[in-house]
Parts: sequence; C-alpha cells; structure tokens
Amino acid sequence: MNALLNPKRTVAELKELRELTSNGNGAQRIAFTPIWTKARTWLRRKLEELPAEIHTDEAGNLWATLRGESEKALLMGGHIDSVPNGGWLDGSLDTLAGVEILRRINAQYNDKPPVTVRLVDWADEEGARFGKSLFGSSACSGHLDLEEARRLKDRDGITLPAALEANGIDFEKVMDCRKELANAAAYLELHIEQSPVLLDLDRPLATVIGTFGVERHAITFHGQAAHAGSTPMNKRKDAFLAAAKMSPEIYRITDRHGGVCTIGSCTTKPGFPTSVIEECRITLDQRHLDGEALSKMLLEAKAAGDRFAKEGNVAVSWDRIWQIEPIPFHPDLIALCDEAISECGAVPHRMPSGPLHDTSEVARAGIPSVMMFVQSLHGISHNKLEDTKEEHLERAITAFDKLADKALRWIERSVAR
Ligand SMILES: [Zn+2]
Repeated sequence: MNALLNPKRTVAELKELRELTSNGNGAQRIAFTPIWTKARTWLRRKLEELPAEIHTDEAGNLWATLRGESEKALLMGGHIDSVPNGGWLDGSLDTLAGVEILRRINAQYNDKPPVTVRLVDWADEEGARFGKSLFGSSACSGHLDLEEARRLKDRDGITLPAALEANGIDFEKVMDCRKELANAAAYLELHIEQSPVLLDLDRPLATVIGTFGVERHAITFHGQAAHAGSTPMNKRKDAFLAAAKMSPEIYRITDRHGGVCTIGSCTTKPGFPTSVIEECRITLDQRHLDGEALSKMLLEAKAAGDRFAKEGNVAVSWDRIWQIEPIPFHPDLIALCDEAISECGAVPHRMPSGPLHDTSEVARAGIPSVMMFVQSLHGISHNKLEDTKEEHLERAITAFDKLADKALRWIERSVAR
C-alpha cells in the first residue's frame, strides 16, 4: 500500500457521515433536500483542505480538481445522495475513497500531478425524490431527456425545476455541464456490490465489465369478462391464463441466454372474484450485457406471448416503457482493475452490473470507464442493513487507489504518444 494513503481514515469518515445524515432507519441524504445539502457542505469542507479548485456545475454536480502538468484528466466519481432509509456505503464509499486518493496524489506529487485529477459528486444519482435516476451524470453525458425531466414531480407536487431552483440550479442550463467532460481521459468508480455474487464466491473485490442493457415493456392480454359460475372452462377467453404462462417462460429464456428477466407487476380487470379476467397487464424487465442476446430474449418473449395468446383465444399487445443499450467498460481499464485487485492479494472476479450507475452515463459519453465492486454482506443495498466488513472496505480503498495510479500512468502514456 502507498504510505501516503490512509484507508482507515476513509472508514472513519464514512462513519462520521453516517452519524451526521442518518436516523434509526438508515441514511436520509435524498438529493435536493436539507440533509443532502448538509452532507454536501461536510464533503466540501473535507475537499477545501486540499489545494483543489472546487465548484458546482450547472446540473449541481460538485467537482474538485487538482490541476496537473497535462489538462488530460483522470476522473473519479461517486454520489453522496442516498435513497430514503438507505445504506451507509452506497455512493458515499465511492466519493470518500476519491477524497482519500486526491489527498494521496496531492501529497505524492507536491501539488502538481502529471495529469489533472478530478473528483465528482454526482447530483441525484438515486432519483429517489423524482423517480428519475442518474440526473447529474445524464445531464453531463448529454442523455438527459429535458422535456421528460421538466414534468417530473415529487410526492408533494413540487416539480424538478422548482426543487432545482431552490438549490440554486437553473433547469434551463443543466445541459451546459457537458463541458466538464471536455478533457476527461478516464473515469473510475468504486461501489458496493448490490447483489450477493461476491459474498457467495467469498471474494472481496470485482472488476465490473459493464452495465446491462435493459428492455422494459408492458404486455397486455385482452380477453373477455364472463361469469365465474356459468362460463364453461373451454369457452373462456381468460387473459390471466395467457399472462400467467409468461412467468415460467421467462425462466426458460434466461436458461437459454443468461441475463435476467423480471415480471414486476400484474394488474387485472375487472379484478373481482366472480369474473373471468378480461384484461391482464404485466410488466417485463429484461437485462443482458450482450446486445444481441438481449434482442433474442425480447424476440422469444414476444413469440411466447403470441403463442399463449393464441392458445387462450385472447389478443396481446406490447408497449415499450424504457430501453437502454448494454454499456461495456473499457478493456484497458478492465485489465488495470484486475491487476490492482491482484496486487492487493485478492483474486479478481469479472462481473457485469445489473443496476445502472453514473459510470454508465460517463461511458456512454465515450469516456473510457471502469468500476470496481466491493463485497456486500447480506448482498443487500438500498436498506439500512447494507454493510461491508471493514477489512474489505480498507482493501477496496487500497485497490482502488492502485487502479487510480495505474489509470493515471495509462493517461500519461497516451499524452506522450
Ligand atoms: Zn450507488
């Protein structure tokens, strides 16, 4: 480990932040609320101890920059915001590990690293208040849908533009923050794994190779309402029967292609005990790292839906709710991440991420990117039970620092070319 790095300090700071912004139900750092502002102010004070240039961009992302010999920049990112009743590590581990690495780099290079090094605390990664995640990073990548965002409201009917205004952010200018990525040469993010893969493998760290593409659809089966007592079984147009057959089918689809599929909601009409179901609407969320496999999964689900509809003498229609392509991370940075993990005495494991992260947006903007995951105890996140062994946290910060060092040299080499 680099003697200038102090992972224990980061763990202590994570606890300090938890103390400051949690209650008995967990972290309460919901973006654009007073507790989030409090967390931000606390973070800013830590950053002000460095000779870093600090500013908030047009979308409310907080940047700390150590100017280097080259303008080409190594970026590290995280998000200090949390979901309501969230965990103490999701987002804040990334951010505070970044702070510690800025300290190490600053000390090592006496205020002048070979390339510029920047830490960003993305605004509203979680989307907990307005239901739209990755706000700050999608504005920065240029993928934020402004018209959709303009209409978002929280539970109290406050619009996103109004909430931003209360935080000193002009909604009409948020896309101007795209300029922040102008000299970005690489982007790194450390995150707690939000599933039990590493726990089951008994490994502390993983290299994340990309984030899943997503196809999300509403599927509606249309049959005919009929009396539950008088309609013979062979005369029914039972919309639920057709929809229900989709449930085992999605497991067969993932058996063939990998990836994950979820039927997350099911609503029926008329929806009372004495009527055959006339209309059944289910949602299907399909995810895969490979775009081709994802399209096959969708095609097979559609074919199965048609088949079940035909068998049941009902009709079926599909509406796309949302879609994003798979976002692979950069092969060179993936290799460097493996190396960093090995050098910390751990066996690297490569895995995709099911959830999207700010890294997905940065990678989508064409910046070479990679993430590192640290094991999650209980494999649980977005919950006050979220936790990671302290020795794993320290190992993660050490490995992430090694990755930052390797990425810095990787950028240096590309500048020299
Ligand atoms: Zn997160």
